[in-house]
Amino acid sequence: MTKLTAHELLLLFKKLHDCTLCPRVCHADRSTSELGYCQSGVGYSIGSICLHHGEEPILSGKNGICNIFFTRCNMQCRFCQNYQISRNNGPIHEQRLTLAGVVDQIERILDRGATSVGFVSPSHFIPQMMAIIASLEQRGRKATFVMNTNAYDKVETLAMLGGAIDVYLPDLKYMDERLALEYSDAPNYPQVATRALTEMFRQKGAKIELDENDTIRCGLIIRHLVLPGQVKNSIQCLRFIAEELSPNVHLSLMAQYNPIPAVSSHPTLSRTLRQEEYEEVLCEMDRLGFNRGFIQSLESPLVYLPDFSHPHPFEAR
Ligand code: SF4
Repeated sequence: MTKLTAHELLLLFKKLHDCTLCPRVCHADRSTSELGYCQSGVGYSIGSICLHHGEEPILSGKNGICNIFFTRCNMQCRFCQNYQISRNNGPIHEQRLTLAGVVDQIERILDRGATSVGFVSPSHFIPQMMAIIASLEQRGRKATFVMNTNAYDKVETLAMLGGAIDVYLPDLKYMDERLALEYSDAPNYPQVATRALTEMFRQKGAKIELDENDTIRCGLIIRHLVLPGQVKNSIQCLRFIAEELSPNVHLSLMAQYNPIPAVSSHPTLSRTLRQEEYEEVLCEMDRLGFNRGFIQSLESPLVYLPDFSHPHPFEAR
């Protein structure tokens, strides 16, 4: 249950008038045309609200998860699979909805049997995310709320969530600062993300809670996408998790990298991951003692590429 009162929610929205929600600390007044790095305002700009069966099995559950994809982002990864909705420059696929419009769509998906609601890339839409949760609860809906984030989050912002998030699903992308800047335009990413993960781990620990259908109810799952040519970065990420948090954390080690047109001439980002690269990272995962979580096969890339011009982005290709 969200512990934020209506007054606290209002205060959270007021923060958008001098926005310091994320590590960019733009101080933009998002109620005006003076937008910050994320080019996002005070409304509900949504790339898609859809039922998704392709997450880790304990997240998708037997009926799928209702994912809400916010548009734009506080990072700009050159290789982003969701580029049709996440770019901060140029046209994107988006729906501008009211809060009621968002919640109506979520309810229709919950009526189809989904038990979890996942917020994808919410770091720059925290007040909106909290308002959606509060509204669903006011309508008597019980769901598991999942925050699927790039981990470029401020600890102070995570601490304001008031226990409303049941499952943290951060993606630890880099421990290599140079790579974070070059690939994602994210200064100080390792420092920011490791602090954010430490806070998530403080809140949830390594244990997860499952329901009677083996769907996650509460806990922390850390994702890491292995990038082509960047095995060392991946190994550093795994070492941070094992040595500074715990090797008992649930880890999702992803091999699904798929080049998008924007990186078609990049020396390494233009190709998929090689078997030997993934295996090297898997060996380190074993050496570090990880024993809970998920790995992928290298056939994964074709399966996971969404098309947000389609009403069902994960069923379109
Ligand atoms: S949420 Fe957007 S406007 Fe606010 S600090 Fe981050 S990038 Fe800047």
